[in-house]
Amino acid sequence: MRDGFPDFRLGSVLATSFTGTLSERHGTAVERIPTPQRLVDWLAVSGLAVESCTPAQLDLARELRESIHAAATAAAIQDALPAAAVQVINDRSVQGRAAAVLTPEGERRWQLGSASSVEDALSVIAADAISIIAGERDGRLALCASPTCQAAFFDTSQSRTRRWCDMNTCGNRQKKARYLANQRASGGRAGSSGGRSPSPR
Ligand SMILES: [Zn+2]
Repeated sequence: MRDGFPDFRLGSVLATSFTGTLSERHGTAVERIPTPQRLVDWLAVSGLAVESCTPAQLDLARELRESIHAAATAAAIQDALPAAAVQVINDRSVQGRAAAVLTPEGERRWQLGSASSVEDALSVIAADAISIIAGERDGRLALCASPTCQAAFFDTSQSRTRRWCDMNTCGNRQKKARYLANQRASGGRAGSSGGRSPSPR
């Protein structure tokens, strides 16, 4: 928590980290970018620093976020992509100026057209979503197994069997629920849960 706002859940994939700024969509939803400044904070930790954000730009960002969520969800279940969501993703991708630049250390950084332009940052996120949904990258789109979450996430594990969007939250909650259920089934004795150990992510 910072200033009373919910923490970010940062993953290694930009587009799904962004959709993760709204979590528990099928439960008690948690909005992690409730104010323009929190979007500025999120963009900064995601390598897309901007100087400021207006309420209208936050609206654009949330519209893009929900469009990515809708399109990624459809792609994960091999459903037809919702046309309206595709339109928003394409509009945001087209209407931004950002360039990939190489650092002396050989890392890729994003250079935005201007420091105040949230639109430029959103175009990078939109392009990231496009590359995932188009199946360009090594991984698999899947939906979180938590019934209250069902977030679309990008599984890059070797076995492609990741079940949760985030091991530290959804994964842990499910493991705890399973542990308690097992405990009840075994008359309250711990240690008979079958010994399934936590997997990373
Ligand atoms: Zn989840």
